[in-house]
Amino acid sequence: MLRALLRFDINSVKQCILRVALDTPLDFCFDYLWQMDAVHPLPLAGQLVVVPFGRREVVGVVTAIAATTEVAADKLKLALAVRRELPPLGAAWQALCGFAADYYQRPLGEVMLPGLPKNLRAIKTTALDKALVRAARPRPAHDATPATVQALNPSQRHAATTIAAARGFVPTLLYGVTGSGKTEVYLQAAAAILNASEDGDATPAQVLIMVPEINLTPQLEASVRSRFPGVAVATLHSSLAEGERLAHWLAGHLGQARIILGTRLAILASLPNLKLIIVDEEHDPSYKQQEGLRYSARDLAVWRAHQLAIPIVLGSATPSLETWHHAQSGRYRRLELRERAVKDAVLPKVLLIDTARDKPVEGLTAMLIAAIRQRLARGEQSLLFLNRRGYAPVVACDACGWISNCPRCTAFMVLHKLDRQLRCHHCGLEQRTPRNCPTCGNVDIQPLGRGTQRVEEGLQALFPQARILRIDADSTRRKGSAQAAFEQVHSGAVDILVGTQMVAKGHDFRNLTLVGVLNPDTALFSHDYRASERLFAQLMQVAGRAGRQARSAEGSASEVLIQTQYPQHPLFAAVMAHDYDAFAGSLLEERRQAGLPPFIFQALLRAEARELSVALAFLQQAATCVVQDGIIINDPIPMSMTRVANVDRAQLLVESVSRPGLQQFLKTWLAALRAMNSRVRWSLEVDPVDI
Ligand code: ADP
Ligand code: ZN
Ligand code: ZN
Repeated sequence: MLRALLRFDINSVKQCILRVALDTPLDFCFDYLWQMDAVHPLPLAGQLVVVPFGRREVVGVVTAIAATTEVAADKLKLALAVRRELPPLGAAWQALCGFAADYYQRPLGEVMLPGLPKNLRAIKTTALDKALVRAARPRPAHDATPATVQALNPSQRHAATTIAAARGFVPTLLYGVTGSGKTEVYLQAAAAILNASEDGDATPAQVLIMVPEINLTPQLEASVRSRFPGVAVATLHSSLAEGERLAHWLAGHLGQARIILGTRLAILASLPNLKLIIVDEEHDPSYKQQEGLRYSARDLAVWRAHQLAIPIVLGSATPSLETWHHAQSGRYRRLELRERAVKDAVLPKVLLIDTARDKPVEGLTAMLIAAIRQRLARGEQSLLFLNRRGYAPVVACDACGWISNCPRCTAFMVLHKLDRQLRCHHCGLEQRTPRNCPTCGNVDIQPLGRGTQRVEEGLQALFPQARILRIDADSTRRKGSAQAAFEQVHSGAVDILVGTQMVAKGHDFRNLTLVGVLNPDTALFSHDYRASERLFAQLMQVAGRAGRQARSAEGSASEVLIQTQYPQHPLFAAVMAHDYDAFAGSLLEERRQAGLPPFIFQALLRAEARELSVALAFLQQAATCVVQDGIIINDPIPMSMTRVANVDRAQLLVESVSRPGLQQFLKTWLAALRAMNSRVRWSLEVDPVDI
């Protein structure tokens, strides 16, 4: 076959080959021909190009300029245009994407392109042109008076100066109890880094601050803006409109934004002068992307800091066991904030309520009801935490045993009483709630169990005078509604807040002195080995919302009341003692003995098919197609929720004590899996969290 072997000296010849990463599942880059002349000079790696792909035109990233190609001359297509108006994506950004593609076993284009704002990937450049014009305009100087800088306490000061004094790659765990003032430490460390770079630096420093949830960005953004007037701040998260997203991304890419606040996707942003990374609540599961490129933003942040030789801070009151393990072994430096920052604020008292003795009515025990009543009388706020949205998780018929199964999933349809709907939280199926039993016609079908809506209803009946607000994914569907809801709580317009994990994280509620935890028990006996780590973190986090500003009116400490059937469980003892160290120590020991992460490295192959047997057969074949020493290949098993949206799912877990060993295996394995050409849909996840 005739191959185009274009050997040339790039300066003298009029054409070259562009190697281009495109957003396709094909695991290679694509070659295109580029004709040079005075108006079309040689492109640079990192520039965006428009190329023909099949019958479409698409935007890709130039990853290399080559002299030769393997593509046959008659197949080689011309690249159409180079986006010269945009400065090229830097070598460090390309390397980051290269690492993520390699580590998570994904095509480079599937890492690079989905991470860019949609408007950059558009064929039309109108949006980009407009955004660039706007970015070039001089900004009106902020002349807001800077907020008074909080005087740090000695441990905060030690932490902030130690962080800012670090040179090179220094990973630091900032281990500080809830309310210990970690945010202040971040801000003052950031200020030190930004100030240090100001004097005569052509490329002023950038600081990336990551938070787990979009809902936490407005709060942090407000603190940052008032603390750093005149400093350009960019925010990056999934709920920005496309135009805003492009503007903020550009501000980062052009080096204009000095502080970048973002959720997990911000880790893939182009930030040419990045000098410090902060990952707040580093233990939070939201840092893990659960589809497509299933990356851990926390882990990528550590890699990025290492590559750039800059400090990184991982902050948490309940660090992930991975991070804790590194801190224990000395790989990460550990800084501690042992006390709450506000004078006289102390950690809340945690008490257990045995639901076998104090039987809940409307989901609430007498003791919890009394505690809420007391808060109402004192004008203090209460928070009730229940990690289940909807009215009731299932509806059933007593007469015939009918139960609201989802016809498409191994799951129940959840009752959403306000909308009179049964809704499957897994496939999205919605049905009108039947008036009578669909099987026997019984008119008396009953909701079983309770979700946040039902708790809200119960509270309204118990406390008709109280201002009650529910915050969960259902109540905050509209854009901006979550922020408005949290502002209501902060402004004091709410007496009782009911919510899911959305309310448990990060928020600095000022007047909240009671937290009630309604039903933590299911997580105690989960098959998922991470469930207890997560439950512990969740309880410590939600408990941490109470008593953040001094004591309650009567001078008593604030309280966390946990309703449980298992008051003897050791996890609760650790929560009551606020003893993360001991709990983490015992969990790590269990993990070591059981050969679980972080003592072993894992990858999970998932397969989906109309019939379970087909998915399992595929995995069975996958399990035997490559053998390598030191790699443990487990038996394929159905996933715990086997069927979702009429598709059956199974999984195969692969493990090794050696991360490089596992990486090497995955490369060979993936090639073999692709060659199997099976019609089963499959995907591979490295360092899986839900298994
Ligand atoms: P964390 O993130 O560690 O849970 P925050 O950063 O939200 O804690 O701080 C908790 C509260 O303490 C905030 O209201 C903050 O304004 C306050 N705070 C922080 N540092 C100090 C300090 N040095 N003195 C007094 N109050 C402080
Ligand atoms: Zn029935
Ligand atoms: Zn379903």
